[in-house]
Amino acid sequence: MAEIRLSGIGVSEGIRIGKVIRYTHSVHNQQFNDISEAGVAQEIERLTEAKEKCIQEIEQLIEQAQQTVGAEKAGVIQAQKSFLLDPTFCPEMEKLISKKLFSAEKAVDQVVKKVMSIFEKMPNEYMRERAADVRDVGNRLLAALTGVKGINLGEIREEVILIADDLAPTDTVQLNKKYIQAFVTQKGGKTSHTAIFSKTLGIPAVIGISAGLEQIQAGETVIVDGTGGVCIVNPEEETIRIYLERMAKEAKDESALEAYASQKAITKDGYQVEVGANIGTAADALYAVEQGAEGIGLLRTELVYMSEASLPDEERQFTVYRDIVQVMGNKPVIIRTLDIGGDKELSYLKIPKEMNPFLGYRAIRLCLDQKPLFVTQLRAILRASAYGKVKIMFPMISCLEEWRIAKGIVEEVKEQLRTESSSFDEEIEVGIMVEVPSVAILAKQFAKEVDFFSIGTNDLVQYTLAVDRMNEKIDYLYDHFNPAIISLLQNVVNAAHAEGKFVGMCGGMAGDPKAVPLLLALGLDEFSMSATAIRKVKHTINQMELGKCRSLLEDVLQMNTAQDIRLKLESFCSENGI
Ligand code: PEP
Ligand code: MG
Repeated sequence: MAEIRLSGIGVSEGIRIGKVIRYTHSVHNQQFNDISEAGVAQEIERLTEAKEKCIQEIEQLIEQAQQTVGAEKAGVIQAQKSFLLDPTFCPEMEKLISKKLFSAEKAVDQVVKKVMSIFEKMPNEYMRERAADVRDVGNRLLAALTGVKGINLGEIREEVILIADDLAPTDTVQLNKKYIQAFVTQKGGKTSHTAIFSKTLGIPAVIGISAGLEQIQAGETVIVDGTGGVCIVNPEEETIRIYLERMAKEAKDESALEAYASQKAITKDGYQVEVGANIGTAADALYAVEQGAEGIGLLRTELVYMSEASLPDEERQFTVYRDIVQVMGNKPVIIRTLDIGGDKELSYLKIPKEMNPFLGYRAIRLCLDQKPLFVTQLRAILRASAYGKVKIMFPMISCLEEWRIAKGIVEEVKEQLRTESSSFDEEIEVGIMVEVPSVAILAKQFAKEVDFFSIGTNDLVQYTLAVDRMNEKIDYLYDHFNPAIISLLQNVVNAAHAEGKFVGMCGGMAGDPKAVPLLLALGLDEFSMSATAIRKVKHTINQMELGKCRSLLEDVLQMNTAQDIRLKLESFCSENGI
């Protein structure tokens, strides 16, 4: 087959060449065909075979689970087997095949959706949760029928390039960098959490390839260029040679940056800033320190929640936070309270689907509404603060009232801990993310009350420019160099400094080397990013002179389009060896 080039959005740098494995997030939502009357017997036989195969698979899983995770979790899998043996579940599918001439797949899909909706409407929470078992058993049956393997991403043990229509953040966090060389998806924007996590994991990725991905077969060779945003299917020998050369050059550039891990982030004229990492786990913290992180500017605690099958209790959370704090020694760790919602789902929280999830019931809004959940997390964070230098940060604050209520709950929790004689840092700083435009506009008022700001450009850009960060079709509008964003950043930094408050940035802009001179000139105190970007950003800062950056800022503030600003920054960076 001839070589094909597919373009998308490069969200995590690096080039990899390898064999494809395909992953379908869910085998539902497909179009299924009908059959003719002559095909009924054969279709029922296919269904029966698929059912038997699933029962065998489940029995093996139960055996494994009893040895590894214990009888209780094995019971969850047992529930799937009960559905397959239920006197109405599969027989109803057979009825649809013989009476309505549905294909086996269509019959499974129909019955599963019907049974799921019955469970979802039940008043008892335990029964509502059974809907997920029905979905899983349906996926298993469909996988057996269609031959599309229901891969468990975390269990892949061969070096592959993963191709998927879409990956949820919960899928991405399971990827093992040792085996998943790179991934390519059809959906997603450059600051979707799938994109962010690929960067954190250091897995090259190209997302948002609108057409052509479906033609790629498992086992075919592809080149993924996460730097250039290209995926090349069935590359010719000459193409492979060119990309092998580029890979060698990238490796050389990487090792040239190694020394920056242990260097300060300081301009030629002696202006120093902090460079921190955005992480989700203790393993990320170790890697971040290795890369030269001087602190954690953002601990996305969602990762702790996403790695559990039910709400993690206080002890579980405390252990994770304390471990991270201990890895960081006396370096600061900003722990952000739960920021679930938007593109990050927690299936066990059972949050109803919304039309506009990024504008809806998410982050601090959910935490203030579900106070016991919030209190449990705050107790765990405060207890971990006894082991190092912890700060608490609230996500998605949109008005002062919200901040005051959240801060009030921190004070209540501190009081509880005092009564119990549990140790915590009495002086702990509490700050907010600036990611909603209303906060950036009212930064002056907020700066009087909070201890610090951290600017979340990923959301600030989407809300200010009204550009969904997940939508690849409008990705061209999503630009942190839009003059409206620069103006908001200037307002936030000036407001914070007028009150003597610290202002960092943990959105993707902080890890963009081209933004560095601008952010230095604006006066940002801390740059926090995926650990993989740290050495490059430190290197960039070391090539800069604050005086020159300040005159660059004056020019930029006169510009009216993102395109002009980008070009200006590109030429400034290249003049300064970046
Ligand atoms: C941001 O919005 O910039 C941010 C850092 O938070 P998240 O990407 O997790 O929404
Ligand atoms: Mg955000």
